Amino acid sequence: MSFEKLGLVPRLLETVAAQGYTIPTPIQAQAIPVILEGRDVLGGAQTGTGKTAAFALPVLQKLDAAGRKGKHPRCLVLTPTRELAAQVGESMAVYGKKMSLRSTIVFGGVGINPQIDKLRRGIDILVATPGRLLDHCGQKTVDLSHVEILILDEADRMLDMGFIHDIKRVLKLLPQKRQNLLFSATYSNDIRGLADNLLRDPVMVEVAPRNTAAEKVDQVVYPVALKEKKVLLAKLINDGDWQKALVFTRTKHGANRLATYLEKGGIGAAAIHGNKSQTARTRALAEFKQGKVKVLVATDIAARGLDIAALPQVVNFDLPNVAEDYVHRIGRTGRAGSSGMAISLVSADEQKLLRPIERLLGRDILVENIDGFAQNEADKDEETFVNFNRRGKGPGRGRYSKPRQSGGRPGGNSRNSSHSRARSGGAGNR
Ligand code: AMP
Repeated sequence: MSFEKLGLVPRLLETVAAQGYTIPTPIQAQAIPVILEGRDVLGGAQTGTGKTAAFALPVLQKLDAAGRKGKHPRCLVLTPTRELAAQVGESMAVYGKKMSLRSTIVFGGVGINPQIDKLRRGIDILVATPGRLLDHCGQKTVDLSHVEILILDEADRMLDMGFIHDIKRVLKLLPQKRQNLLFSATYSNDIRGLADNLLRDPVMVEVAPRNTAAEKVDQVVYPVALKEKKVLLAKLINDGDWQKALVFTRTKHGANRLATYLEKGGIGAAAIHGNKSQTARTRALAEFKQGKVKVLVATDIAARGLDIAALPQVVNFDLPNVAEDYVHRIGRTGRAGSSGMAISLVSADEQKLLRPIERLLGRDILVENIDGFAQNEADKDEETFVNFNRRGKGPGRGRYSKPRQSGGRPGGNSRNSSHSRARSGGAGNR
């Protein structure tokens, strides 16, 4: 399958080629032709599947073909988070470079006046988070009555984040006759309900189940005492000479504390979470993308939808409470064919969170003990040590050789052979 066969105009084909895309991703191959036909679409795809281009390219083509019409938006993209809005807006700008369409992004947490100025000058494509969009609607600084195409991106997240009422209020402001595209990584009953209300005779496009991204990622659990986690993380980063790692913490304070600890240890780190201003978040993300900081510490909400190409390492500093968040997190590595490593630092009290994750993945995660650290765990809590090692089998249970002084790259491509490894799920512990 090639982009040429999907019915895209030469200008878009040039843009796609300039982006280095040679083959459409499955969601693109399925969605682009039907969106060009004008059909409603229910898309099952998560971030990392190429879904943004799957809707952006045909939408740009349709709007461009119709020519500019006045100053009111003709396409509205709703996203759950500011970061995703920023990324979708950026993608629209990049993919639409050779077209004379105007797009803008509106989200909360930043001044409203520059947004009003842009809206007043006229736009074709508006990418927005629901709350700020409704502010604009209330102030009559945007008129949604000319919207021809509505896109709900990460609709499941929008519902999770409680945006259903805002979405319904937005829908009332749109013309009845329009094309609707709904993308969601999961199909809960709520999503089905929303889709039933919103979509007319939709074409279902779905890429392989959401867990397939996880299949490509090397996953490992390092048992470690809670208070030793940050020391172990710094060791992994230093020994493995990591250049780019996304680290997840459960809390905002945890993210701040960890970033500060790493910085003090000479490892460039930045934290992003909901308490940070939009400017601070954007700056942190930019510094991370440019390689100015090696480690981005994030909470789940802040990281949602972040588009960071080919991350070699994702670390669960804390395991998420919800198993599905684990899959979202590790979906940030091993993208588009590149290999990735997802590392979970698991303390005694987090063990209970592992089993639902493994159930969701449909497989066990490798447990690897790192010299000194798992032993500390044992010293601290004999029960933990026993439990972890009951998960495993083979030699080296609870007995560790000394860690290598140099050259060891725990978590890197050549794993330190001095780690005693254990395959979880063994020894009849389930
Ligand atoms: P998305 O799922 O839209 O967040 O896209 C994930 C990543 O895949 C982005 O970094 C895109 O630039 C990239 N991408 C999108 N389409 C393609 C393609 N056909 N080939 C290679 N990379 C792509």
